[in-house]
Amino acid sequence: MCLTHIRVSFVTDSCLFCRIASGEIPATLVGQNEHAVAFRDIHPQAPVHLLVIPRRHVASLAEATDAVEVGALCLLAAEVARQEGVAETGYRVVMNTGADGGQTVSHLHLHLLAGRRMTWPPG
Ligand code: AMP
Ligand code: ZN
Repeated sequence: MCLTHIRVSFVTDSCLFCRIASGEIPATLVGQNEHAVAFRDIHPQAPVHLLVIPRRHVASLAEATDAVEVGALCLLAAEVARQEGVAETGYRVVMNTGADGGQTVSHLHLHLLAGRRMTWPPG
């Protein structure tokens, strides 16, 4: 086995969102496509709070290289927003990135927040 395989399988085994994407850890799935999976956040910050993640391990937006994969996250977010009935009223999409961005789980994810009026600037 080459070093890349060892590294990827280690990340997959230890990463919470890789384990959710593979179905090893349960989550409330709300949608999926070839590249991405959407599920409900366990500590919702709005009436609708979903996470959309790539199936493949990517640590954050800073490490992302595949435009199709990142695009698939956005398109799945728009699709589940329609499904949840919030496309008309609106929603916020956030990718916390790195320490100052407030990222706590090191697997790229998009937050979709909706169902209440968001404020600006964010905290
Ligand atoms: P961030 O702070 O941007 O890295 O977002 C991580 C998000 O993952 C937080 O909103 C958490 O509530 C959420 N989260 C952590 N563990 C789980 C889990 N097992 N299932 C669903 N959401 C989770
Ligand atoms: Zn991962």
